[in-house]
Parts: sequence; C-alpha cells; structure tokens
Amino acid sequence: MGAAASISQDEVKNLPQYKIAGGEEKWNEIKGEDGNLALPYPEDPYLKFGGRYSDSDPKNTPDFKYLEFDALPNFSDKHKSAMSRHLTQEVFDKLRDAKSSKGYTLSNVIMTGVVTPHLGVGATAGDEECWEIFKDLYYPIIKDWHGYDAETQVHPVDLDPSKLVFSDEQKEVFNQYVVSTRIRAARNVSGFALPAGATAEDRAGVEAVLKQAFAGLTGELAGTYYELGGLSDEQRDFLLQKGFLFQIPTAKNLLTGAGAARSWPDNRGIFHNEAQTALCWVNEEDHCRIISMENGGDIPSVFTRFCALSEALKASAEANNTKLMWNEKLGFLGTCPSNLGTGLRASVMVVLPKFNELMEGENQADKELLEEVCSKFDLQPRGSAGEHSAAVGGKFDVSNKQRLGFSEVQLVQKMIDGVNKVIKLEQMLANGSTPDEVRAAMNAVDEPAA
Ligand code: ADP
Ligand code: MG
Repeated sequence: MGAAASISQDEVKNLPQYKIAGGEEKWNEIKGEDGNLALPYPEDPYLKFGGRYSDSDPKNTPDFKYLEFDALPNFSDKHKSAMSRHLTQEVFDKLRDAKSSKGYTLSNVIMTGVVTPHLGVGATAGDEECWEIFKDLYYPIIKDWHGYDAETQVHPVDLDPSKLVFSDEQKEVFNQYVVSTRIRAARNVSGFALPAGATAEDRAGVEAVLKQAFAGLTGELAGTYYELGGLSDEQRDFLLQKGFLFQIPTAKNLLTGAGAARSWPDNRGIFHNEAQTALCWVNEEDHCRIISMENGGDIPSVFTRFCALSEALKASAEANNTKLMWNEKLGFLGTCPSNLGTGLRASVMVVLPKFNELMEGENQADKELLEEVCSKFDLQPRGSAGEHSAAVGGKFDVSNKQRLGFSEVQLVQKMIDGVNKVIKLEQMLANGSTPDEVRAAMNAVDEPAA
C-alpha cells in the first residue's frame, strides 16, 4: 500500500485482515480527517511482526492484500509454528528472491504463519512447483511435523481397507465412547494453482474438473454438488452444525492469512451423496477434500467408503486427461505441509469427560494431560467444532497426527490402536486413578507399531 492509501469503515468491516477490535469508539479514535483510515495504521494486526502490504502482487484482490517481507519477520514468543523455528536468517536469505512460475514467493509461503502466531505449521504452498523451490524451508518443517526425511525416504500408498484390524473388543469400546467417525484427505488437481496462490481462473477450472468427477459417481457415492454462494442461510447452518461444511474463514485462521479466502465464496462448494456419508469440499484449503463420515465408531466401514471415493476421483481425473498432484517423495501434494503424503486425517468424536475436567481445572500440567497422552500415541486432539475450537461437553476430535511416511492403512490402524488406549486411560481416571498414575500407565504401554 502506498502512503496515500486509505480505507473506509465499511471496507474495514468486510476485510477480515483489517478488522478492528474496539468498534465505533476505536474507529473514531483512529480515522483520519477525511473519515477514512490511512493504511497501514500503527495497530494493524497484520503488520505487528514485520512486512508491508504489497502494491504489486498480482494475486491481490479487493478483499485481500498480500504482505511482502524484505527482512526476517520479528517472531514473538507467541509464534508456535514450525515455520517460525525453521525460517533462519540463512534460509530466508537463500529463498527471499525465489518464485514459482505461477508467482508464489517466500513472502506468500510464510505470511499466514507470521500474521497468525498460534498456527502449528505456519507455511503454505501456492502451487505444485513450490514443493521443490522452497524445500529448504519445507523439508525441515516436514521433518519436525511428521518425523519424515524427505531427502531420503519414500512415501508408501495403501488403500486396501481389508487390511485393517479392528478387534471385537475395540469395536465394543468404540461403540461406547465414539459419537462419530470421519476420514478425510486432501486431493489437488495438477496444473492449477493451489487456493493460497490461485487466480479466479484456477478456482473456476478446478471446480469444473471436480463437478465433472462428481457427476460420474455412481451407486452409494452418487449425489449432488452445491455451490457455497448458493446455499440458503438455513442450509448453511444445518451443514455447519452437522460438521459437513467448512469453518467460515475468520481473521485468525490459516486460510485468511494465506490469502486462500480471497473472493469467498466464489467457486467454493460442497458435494455430498444421498446419505451424507461421502462428502467433497471444493476450493477450501485444498482443491478438494474427500470425506467419509458416519455416526458411531465403525472405522472399517468409514475407511472402505473413503477408499472407494479416493479411487473414483482418481479414475475420473484420469478419464478427463488430468491427474492428481502426487510424487514419490511427498505423496499427495497440497497447501499445507501437515497434509502431505496420505493427506489423511482419520478422526473420531470421542467423549472424554474426565480428561475434559482436568483441562478445565487449575493445574497446568493436568490441563495438558490429554495433549500429552495423544502425542504419545501420535494423535492430535481438537475441539468439537474443528481445529482451535473448544471441546463442548467433553467431546474431542482425536485423529492421527502424521500423514506422511505411513500408508493410509497404517495411519488408520494407528488411530484405532491409539484411541483405544486413550479410552482406557479415560476409564482409569473415571475409576479414581490420579493423573500421575495415568502418566505411568501411558508410559508403560509399548510404542504403537509403526
Ligand atoms: P479438517 O481440517 O480435517 O477438515 P477441521 O478441524 O477443520 O478438520 O474440522 C472440520 C469439521 O469436521 C468440523 O466441523 C469438525 O467438527 C468436523 N469433524 C471432524 N471430525 C469429526 C468426526 N469424527 N465426526 C463428526 N464431525 C467431525
Ligand atoms: Mg481444517
């Protein structure tokens, strides 16, 4: 933004990135004589950690301006991301002028992690090529997050649901504690920029390819595609409340900071089959998220449908002379380093009232017990309305943390075995064991099979 740039209060209200806390009063305090706000204004949350608004980024839209970083950002102790740890001066200097052929820069890669300090990963890719160009930053992040060495390892694929082991005992425990199961993965179409770097043409192209794929789904998978912009408020609320729909982008999530919520809701949409057990999201964080979900804890049933959906999408992409973004080193490629490889997140909504009580209690170490237990089994807990939400009623979303270096079958198996153990520890707490006894029991179990 040049020095003369300014913005009206109405515009501010529409732009998540400029949202000003403090309402009317604050506005009156900071607006200029012409009634508009001169940009950048000193309290702009997006400029707190360095960078400046770009005048020249061709991906800028009326609702979003990318930041450019001429120097290493000023990371604070609030920055939790792997990106903030691995973007050293040396890496910054090496990559600062790198650019993909579709125009994605280092500034674009790191922006969301800089302006949204609480993110765990904090870096995005704007297109397929980025994964090679910015590997000096991505690979250490990948190593950190997945424990996977992209320089030397090869990523396995296995979409054969008959290989899952789900014992009768596990089935019984899951039926008791698990409210619903969901398995999703990211799939992106080669040749189009990813949402964080996409033009309107990219988004429209992706939507067209996917619509064609949906039209070709048959049997249990057959269903309807809904454009996000065309949903009624009621439909949207219903889908959101059932956990079928994307979270709405806010100023503080990955999507907005990465520029992936530009021109929302254009060319975004949702497909679901008749029974609402197979769903696809279009142009949210990735071109496509494929989702299989149902009530209860029948993991093999959910995984079987997931595999069928994955295969159908791949076949359809190939029949339309396109292919999915994939390579041997990194598996399925997408927007976030956390979703490479299988891109698969297998989650259960599981009710853990005792862990929840500890979390709401006073003792800091006990608050983190669930986090600690999950991490021991390579799982990640989330709240009941998605990432960074609260666990209403003690209901947690617990899923595999890794996506890369393990096959789909291995990851779903790790989730089954890990959640089974988490539930056993919840039962210990319910039977009067102390958090320290739970810790001891947790450390006594063997590492889950890799
Ligand atoms: P992801 O990035 O994997 O899609 P999010 O954390 O963004 O996951 O959550 C997306 C939505 O899916 C949220 O509304 C969340 O509540 C819902 N969800 C996640 N896991 C389950 C599950 N096992 N059962 C029902 N809904 C779920
Ligand atoms: Mg998400």
